[in-house]
Amino acid sequence: MIVLLEPDADAPAVERALIAEGLWVRRLDGIRGVQLEIEPWSSAVAPDRLLDIQGVADVLARSSPHPRVDAQRGAVEIARRRFAPGGPPVLIAGPCAVESERQIDRVAARVARAGASFLRGGAFKPRTSPYSFHGHGTAALGWLRRAADREGLAVVTEVLSPEDAPLVAEHADMLQIGSRSMQSFALLKAAGQTGRAVMLKRGMSATVEEWLLAAEYCLVHGAFRVVLCERGIRGFDTTTRNLLDLSAVALLSHIHRLPVVVDPSHAVGRRDLIAPLTHAALAAGAAGVMLETHDDPGQALSDGAQALTPECFDALARSMALGGAS
Ligand code: PEP
Ligand code: MN
Repeated sequence: MIVLLEPDADAPAVERALIAEGLWVRRLDGIRGVQLEIEPWSSAVAPDRLLDIQGVADVLARSSPHPRVDAQRGAVEIARRRFAPGGPPVLIAGPCAVESERQIDRVAARVARAGASFLRGGAFKPRTSPYSFHGHGTAALGWLRRAADREGLAVVTEVLSPEDAPLVAEHADMLQIGSRSMQSFALLKAAGQTGRAVMLKRGMSATVEEWLLAAEYCLVHGAFRVVLCERGIRGFDTTTRNLLDLSAVALLSHIHRLPVVVDPSHAVGRRDLIAPLTHAALAAGAAGVMLETHDDPGQALSDGAQALTPECFDALARSMALGGAS
């Protein structure tokens, strides 16, 4: 809502009266004089009541289609890690897929040593081809959780189907909704209903508004928090895997003030460009990055070409001023 003031109104007095009604007020100095914007997370107050306040000329409705997402403005804390636009970056790292217990143990130890906060790794893998490796499922969830606990890491892993949401939520601090599932509304609802945090990847051809509305779905259905993840959208040029939309990252971070994580691995699809894109993402205001790494990328069961070698991963982690647990 926007509250328009009379030309001779005592703006600070009106502001105080609005605050006394339980409203969060932001002052906008525009060409039409002072206007007061009521933040969407304020208490519900009927506009008529505001019109009775001395100095108020009019009340205009401007309701956001995603008030719960807007309410996350500033920063969110998940598993004691703070995701803040432009803040010390949170590093999420791990293999594309959890391939074996020993593999995830080794990678967890390595990424923890490099300063990562979250361990990633797919137990349920969405693959374009039905003949590709689809993950070790429930067993991999257990390996992932144990490896993360041993190293003091939090866990994020993808949930592919609504029926699996409670099981994945038992093992993960944050449920990943993949690009291909961003508008799978039954999945958004089921993930929300677990009460866990969600990392929502942007659909390959989703607009920012569609992405924010998908995040709103998760929050409406009970998600603890939602972190957005830009992972590249489908462009016309196939030279790189996808088109990393850093304009959207800057918009969400600087204007909406929302926490966005960037996944350069799936965006560019080749390991030699991940370091520059990581730094570009942080410069654009990203709250963190998600990086795929494998101890033997040539043998990876999925996404080997974009997996950072241990040496490259360590060097990149060292070059970031990482945030730690609170
Ligand atoms: C992933 O992060 O494992 C993944 C499959 O990513 P995306 O949904 O972005 O393709
Ligand atoms: Mn992958």
